[in-house]
Amino acid sequence: RLTTVSPLIAGNWKMNGLTHSLSELAELARLLTTGEAPRAVVVVCPPATLLAAVAAQGASSGILAGGQDCHVAAQGPHTGDIAAAMIADAGGQFVIVGHSERRADHGETDEVVRAKAEAAIGAGLSPIICVGETEAQRDAGEAEAVVADQLARSVPDAAGSHQVEVAYEPVWAIGSGRTPSLEEIATMHKAIRDRLVDRFGVSRGEAIRILYGGSMKPHNAREILGVDNVNGGLVGGASLLANDFYTIISAV
Ligand code: PGA
Repeated sequence: RLTTVSPLIAGNWKMNGLTHSLSELAELARLLTTGEAPRAVVVVCPPATLLAAVAAQGASSGILAGGQDCHVAAQGPHTGDIAAAMIADAGGQFVIVGHSERRADHGETDEVVRAKAEAAIGAGLSPIICVGETEAQRDAGEAEAVVADQLARSVPDAAGSHQVEVAYEPVWAIGSGRTPSLEEIATMHKAIRDRLVDRFGVSRGEAIRILYGGSMKPHNAREILGVDNVNGGLVGGASLLANDFYTIISAV
């Protein structure tokens, strides 16, 4: 187990949360500041409408903010989109790119995801670059090859010199209550680590956090976070409730 990489737990609120959800954030902040100091970097990625509020409200308790997506361009005629620099301007330090829901809903290719990661780095953000196989691909024995291909194409060369996180999120585990076995997670995270080390060298390749995502819950977080090369989690549903998310953070 790598001890040089501080673990990171990121909450992905997806398209959930109105202003009143900030009360959950306030409760999370209370738990984080009154309990034992968290052993993980804590990030919350709310809908864009709440980003500035989360960044401002989280600051005093060490909760960092992130976006859920950014455009490849720095600014311009892209109605409805958000530039990485706007996320930074709102107080964000991270941005999720290439989530499978973005890949599916918006047809984002690996090449688009890489360009978004580059835009994020250019704006001083750390992109959380998502990869993961579908159930059919796993059943066909292609999971490792699919993920290796996504990594090669989605992770920019700039990851060799700038902070990025990789999130392994099997598509079939997202929101389903199903997770791979610990052995499957260990095998995939080792395979991802090997690719990163091959490409960026040992010291850089081992410094990149590899998060696990997909039905990480209070009841399974401890065992998943204990797997070699799992450097944290990307948490969807269970990040919406302060108690559940705090339990996961505390499992680090
Ligand atoms: P889930 O979502 O925890 O609800 O499965 C994870 C994600 O999609 O990031």
